[in-house]
Amino acid sequence: LFESVGFIGLGNMGYRMANNLLKAGYKLTVHDRNFNAMKTFSDMGVATKETAFEVGEASDVVITMLPSSSHVLDVYNGPNGLLQGRNFLRPRLLIDSSTIDPQTSRKISAVVSNCSLKEKKDLWENPVMLDAPVSGGVVAAEAGTLTFMVGGSEDAYLAAKPLFLSMGRNTIYCGGAGNGSVPHCLPSDMSDLLCLSPMNTKAAKICNNLALAVSMLGVSESLALGQSLGIAASTLTKIFNSSSARCWSSDSYNPVPGVMEQVPSSRNYDGGFASKLMAKDLGLASESAKEVGLKCPLTSQAQEIYTKLCKDGHETKDFTCVFRHYYSGKDE
Ligand code: NAD
Repeated sequence: LFESVGFIGLGNMGYRMANNLLKAGYKLTVHDRNFNAMKTFSDMGVATKETAFEVGEASDVVITMLPSSSHVLDVYNGPNGLLQGRNFLRPRLLIDSSTIDPQTSRKISAVVSNCSLKEKKDLWENPVMLDAPVSGGVVAAEAGTLTFMVGGSEDAYLAAKPLFLSMGRNTIYCGGAGNGSVPHCLPSDMSDLLCLSPMNTKAAKICNNLALAVSMLGVSESLALGQSLGIAASTLTKIFNSSSARCWSSDSYNPVPGVMEQVPSSRNYDGGFASKLMAKDLGLASESAKEVGLKCPLTSQAQEIYTKLCKDGHETKDFTCVFRHYYSGKDE
C-alpha cells in the first residue's frame, strides 16, 4: 500500500528502524539535521533531503523518530516542516514514534486533521496521523523486534501494519483516532473518546519507561551490592534470571560491563538510550502524576538520580551507565 517511506530522525533508534525498512524493500527518503547521519544513508544510495517538507513530498508515509516534543513540533509545524502549506499532495499518512508528552501529540494530531490533500486518493480524504511509540531499545530496533503501541484510526493502523512489522515483532493497537481521522463508519459521538488515543499510547509508553527506569536502578543497586559482598555480577545475574528478580534490565539489557554481549554496557555505554532521554521520560511521568494527583515517590527519586547523571556529564551515554557512575562513583 505504501511504497515510498520517509524517515526523519536517524539517531540510535531511527537509524536502525530505517535500515530495516530498507531491507524490507521500501523506497526510502530520509532527513536528519545531523549531516553524518544523512551521509551514512546517502552512501548506501538512499535519497536524502535537506528539509522535512521535501521528505513529505517524496513519500506516501513519513515516520518521525525524534528526541522530544520540541523536536517533533519543529519537524511538523516549523519552517519547512512536514505540514507547511497545510494542503499538500503527499504524505497521506504520518506516524510519530518518538516518546513525547501526550498533549503535544494531541496538538499535532489536531493540526494534521485540519490539513487537506490536493488529490483525494483511495484511502483517506485528509492526511492521517498515527501515534506509535516503541519499546525494546536499540537491540530490538537492530533485530527488527520492537513493540509498537499504536493509536489512531483502525483503517490507518491496518494499512500501516506491514510497515510496523518490518521494524518490529509486536503491534498493540490502543484504539482511537485523531480529530480529523475518525473513520466515517464510527458514530460522531465517539469522536471525543477517540481523541484520547494519543493520550493512551503516550501514557502507556511513559509508564513503561518509568517501570524500566526503576527496575534498572534496582538491578544496578543489587548487582553493585552483590559485587561489594564478593559475588560476581555474572553469577548474580544468572541467579536473578532464574529467580524472582528476573526482568528485562537483568536478562536483556544488563548494566554491568561484560555480563552480556551486544548491549551498551559492554561497549563503554555508547549508543543505546541516552541518560538525557530517560531523564526526559521521567519528567513526563512526574508531570502526568502531578496532573492526576498521584504520589509517585520512586519516580521523583529516579528522576533525581538520572538528572544527576546528566549533570555529571553522562547525558549522551546509555542510561545503564547509572551502574558505573552512580553506584561506583567512578569516572571513565
Ligand atoms: P537520538 O538522540 O539518538 O536520535 C534522534 C535523532 O533526531 C538525531 O539523529 C538528531 O540529529 C535528530 N533530530 C533532532 N532534531 C531534529 C530535527 N529538528 N530535524 C531533523 N532531525 C532531528 O534518539 P533515539 O535514542 O534514537 O530516540 C528517539 C526517540 O525514541 C526518543 O523520543 C526516545 O525517547 C525514544 N526511544 C528511544 C529508545 C532507545 O533505546 N534509544 C527506545 C525507545 C524509545
